[in-house]
Amino acid sequence: MLNHLWSTLDQHFTEMIEIRRYLHMHPEVSFQEVKTAAFIQKYYQDLGVEIRENVGGNGIVATINGEFSGPTVALRADFDALPIQDEKDVEYKSTVPGVMHACGHDGHTATLLVLAKVLYQHRHLLKGNVVLIHQHAEEYAPGGALPMIKDGCLDGVDVIFGTHLWASEPVGKIQYRSGPIMAAADRFEIRVHGEGGHGAQPHKTKDAILIGSQIVTNLQQIVSRKVDPVSSAVVSVGSFVAENAFNIIANTAKLIGTVRTFDEDIRTQIEKEIENVIKGTCLMNNAEYEYDFVRGYPAVVNHYDETEFLREHASQVPGVYEVEEIPLQMGGEDFAYYLQHVKGTFFFTGAKPANSSDVYPHHHPKFDIDEKGMLIAAKTLCKATIQYQLDYCESNELNLNK
Ligand code: MN
Repeated sequence: MLNHLWSTLDQHFTEMIEIRRYLHMHPEVSFQEVKTAAFIQKYYQDLGVEIRENVGGNGIVATINGEFSGPTVALRADFDALPIQDEKDVEYKSTVPGVMHACGHDGHTATLLVLAKVLYQHRHLLKGNVVLIHQHAEEYAPGGALPMIKDGCLDGVDVIFGTHLWASEPVGKIQYRSGPIMAAADRFEIRVHGEGGHGAQPHKTKDAILIGSQIVTNLQQIVSRKVDPVSSAVVSVGSFVAENAFNIIANTAKLIGTVRTFDEDIRTQIEKEIENVIKGTCLMNNAEYEYDFVRGYPAVVNHYDETEFLREHASQVPGVYEVEEIPLQMGGEDFAYYLQHVKGTFFFTGAKPANSSDVYPHHHPKFDIDEKGMLIAAKTLCKATIQYQLDYCESNELNLNK
């Protein structure tokens, strides 16, 4: 059965490329993906698949009801683009100025649509339902996952699988990791209120630049002296603004930065430690402060059994030559929220362009993928879906026979 599904996917590869290129030419940024949502909607309507539109925003949820009863497997693809000018020289280049699919979400969508079509055509063989989650707004916190979950996209779902096409890894490689895989990405903002004055009379001022600089320095001790060294964390100040003339001592300084963690306790600890540093430094300088810690996506934490399951079965997918465990990734992903509600796993599918001069990092104006990665992603998600339903039904029959 799987061989048949895989070869059907092969037959639909051209369509997958066409969809991806169409979406690539018509990108929309997060929370504004109205036309993309309409495109996805129409694809399912033409197929005759039942959908729910405007789920938690621009999200779309399609359900394929299998012939036999069994577990409900959810598959997720995001579909938003980025505010980046496409600088590639290809015929499917973005037609929208300043907007581009620079993270491969067009490829995720094409992969899932074609896989959905093939699964729908074979629904008489499915031992359970398949829920296709087309998520808007992954790139921009608070993201689309959480509102979609609140709007019921995981209702009745037993397990979820998601993948990201990854342009730094060759086609044929699958990367997995049990437990934390991607970081919680938070943002902090500090305002130091000193007392400005004449640059020649510092003793009559509270120098916000000096105080801000001390804060930046003291923040470095959080990871090196407060966080357990076996855990990973990052505290980075990305912006420090205290504009002034050369002979004026700054009244205020504004610092913005990011915190990356993999553990909820450490995340909360760092939030507090940052305030301790600010409070202590400002007290020493007799200055006032404001502090905001804005939580972004939590860490993506893969479930052990489902990750092992994926690892085992991905290696049997035609075209996959390596299934590799990867170290922690410092990037963030709102797939994290799904995994807080149901078990499942998020993995990476290699999609590195064949020509090394075409390889650029995600979010780069010349970013592109090797579209063959989509086919591998579709086959791997297909295998995971079918195998999960089969295993589940078999173990249930065993239990019944006991
Ligand atoms: Mn992405």
